[in-house]
Parts: sequence; C-alpha cells; structure tokens
Amino acid sequence: MVTKKEKEYITKTISMLLRPEAAQVVALMLNKSEVGEEWLAKQSNLKVTVVRKILYDLFNLGLVDFKKERDEKSGWYIYNATFKVDQFDKVVIDKLKVILNKFKMRLKYEEENTFYYCPEHQRTMTETEALNNNYVCDVEGCGKVLIVKDKAHRIEKLKKKIDEIEKLIEMAESKP
Ligand SMILES: [Zn+2]
Repeated sequence: MVTKKEKEYITKTISMLLRPEAAQVVALMLNKSEVGEEWLAKQSNLKVTVVRKILYDLFNLGLVDFKKERDEKSGWYIYNATFKVDQFDKVVIDKLKVILNKFKMRLKYEEENTFYYCPEHQRTMTETEALNNNYVCDVEGCGKVLIVKDKAHRIEKLKKKIDEIEKLIEMAESKP
C-alpha cells in the first residue's frame, strides 16, 4: 500500500521528471495493478492518445510494465499497465540529481551575470551582448537604451525549485 505521504512524493517527482498530466495518471495507477488506458483516460479526463504517450514515457523510465491481453469481442490486443512502485526510488534518484545539477548551474549563471532588456521588445541580452551593442536595443529602428533586468524574482524561483528537488532526493535516499 502506498501511503498518502508517499503518493505525494511520487506524484511530485513524476511531475518534475515528465509533466503534471503524467502525475495525474500515476496517481490513478498507485495501489492498482493492470489498468487499461481507456480506464485511465476516463478517470483522468485526458485523451487516450495522451494517456498512451504518458504510459510509454513511464515505460521508458522503467516505471511501467505492460501486459498484453486479447479482447474476446474485438480480437484486438489490449495493453494493461502496472506502475512499478518498488522500482521508483532506484529509477528516479539519478534523474533527479541530473535535474538538480541543471537548476544549480542555471542559478549560478543567473547570480553571476547581469542581463539587459529592451523596454519595447522582448529581447534579453547578456552583459557581453549588451556591451557589443553599446547598451542599446539591436532591433532595427529601435535603438532604445537597454535596462538592467531585475533577476531577484527568477533567482528566488530557482532556489525554491532546487529546494523542492533536494527534498525529493532526500526522501528517495532515506528509504532502505
Ligand atoms: Zn527594442
């Protein structure tokens, strides 16, 4: 049985590794075995094609097993999926560490650099690019003086994300 806390950790991790819709599908698969894509689609309000794609993404991560079954009526094969919860920590730990590393590098880059933008255009430049353009926008006919981008909000968001991932890794590593 997967506890409520465990479920939260699993869905958060899946959302981080894939996307929120995948977490929705996984939540439906926990504590169940051999569920069909039609059932999952119905329960999640997602299209069958979307569910199928998610199941294959999970399969590629090594988190889903498929069992083929022949439908008596139509003669078609039906694939039932089971979420491999016992494999979860082992599978996700390295992937979470890769993501964590990327976010840390991104944070370092943001903290160490100054960015500029044109108030008119959505154009952002690095210090070097801005310097090369004499701190004016390079969009033709613009020439507006570039403004230093306030990165505090973005840095705060990155730190929050890093904290979140570190907590998930801690959770994955804390289990036997
Ligand atoms: Zn401009």
